[in-house]
Amino acid sequence: MQAEHRSTVAPDHPEIGDAGALLTIDLGALADNWRLLAATASGAECAGVIKADGYGVGLEHAARILFAAGCRTFFVALPEEGRRARVAAPGATIYVLDGLMPGAAADYVGAGLRPVLGSIEEIAEWGAFCRLAGDQPAAVHVDTAMNRLGIRIDDAAMLAADGESFAAFTPALVMSHLACADDPDDPLNARQLDRFGTVRALFPGIPASLANSAGILLGPAYHFDLVRPGIALYGGAPRIAGFDNPMRPVVRLEARVLAVHDGRVEETVGYGAAETLVRDSRIAVVAVGYADGFLRAGSSSDAHAGGRAIVAGQPAPILGRISMDLTAIDVTDLPEGAVRRGDLVELIGETITIDEVATSAGTIGYEILTSLGRRYRRRHVGAGIGA
Ligand SMILES: *Cc1c(COP(=O)(O)O)cnc(C)c1O
Repeated sequence: MQAEHRSTVAPDHPEIGDAGALLTIDLGALADNWRLLAATASGAECAGVIKADGYGVGLEHAARILFAAGCRTFFVALPEEGRRARVAAPGATIYVLDGLMPGAAADYVGAGLRPVLGSIEEIAEWGAFCRLAGDQPAAVHVDTAMNRLGIRIDDAAMLAADGESFAAFTPALVMSHLACADDPDDPLNARQLDRFGTVRALFPGIPASLANSAGILLGPAYHFDLVRPGIALYGGAPRIAGFDNPMRPVVRLEARVLAVHDGRVEETVGYGAAETLVRDSRIAVVAVGYADGFLRAGSSSDAHAGGRAIVAGQPAPILGRISMDLTAIDVTDLPEGAVRRGDLVELIGETITIDEVATSAGTIGYEILTSLGRRYRRRHVGAGIGA
């Protein structure tokens, strides 16, 4: 009954059901990427950053597969994400990067979460809590160039010297964050490394952490005791363009072809009549759009080429504006009959990387991943037995 129903929907692709697009998440690749980063930073512990629903691939799935691969420390942005990670990876150490929410210290401790204390107020509040509850583990974030979260180096020096601030608790980790690590030639990297050396000396014997994904590639001097990769785990290029990305792709997006039809030269395609056909064309319309996080900025027009798809193994450009639920693709150069209603076309995968999609849309791979749509049929593969 089930098989019969499916066969009427998508005879060649039962896994997509009746959804418009299929998102396949390769957890084996995610684990391999963690192993590669752990080996690259072999003198340090390799954590896993799983904030923002595991960069869009599913926080619980990411936590479970990474823990199975050997990852024991996780970073999330918010306590709610931390509580989800705690359930998925009961044995792990979990840090909350956004720090301590006012009045929430007991909740963090109850949930087994460690705040990354990022202001003098947070350090004072955690200290006051620990005077009553006993020493509880937390990280201290010291800013070395971001002016986002983290206390200033001068303030860190003052707090470390006053004998009060760290009387009730001993930081479990001291960390900072690199601003320009994706560009190895940026002189700010060396300046932050130097400043972090100063920070480290203020907290003797306390584990230290500086590097995100890109920071790992800057070399062993940046690794310290713990590295914190995010984007590279999920297959994103940890460096700016011109770099041969060694990470395995984790995400594959395939959209269903709803219709294939002919258009005539000088007709236009889609909203705003933004793209005019320069020849008689064959057009495949697929069931994905900006409502799925397939960003409208990747549209094509007469003035500006947009992104592309892989159709029947061949590259094929997007035609006209990406709309809410639909995207048109130029399949004129494919052999007659190569693409039919019901086929799947690749929009992200082995050929079209998240970084290529990002470049077409004028953004970064992080935004492509964290925008991945809620309407996709999601399939997690490669977790192996028991993972
Ligand atoms: C998000 C984040 C990371 C991970 O960065 P990637 O560039 O994704 O590797 C590491 N550290 C901090 C403080 C972060 O906010």
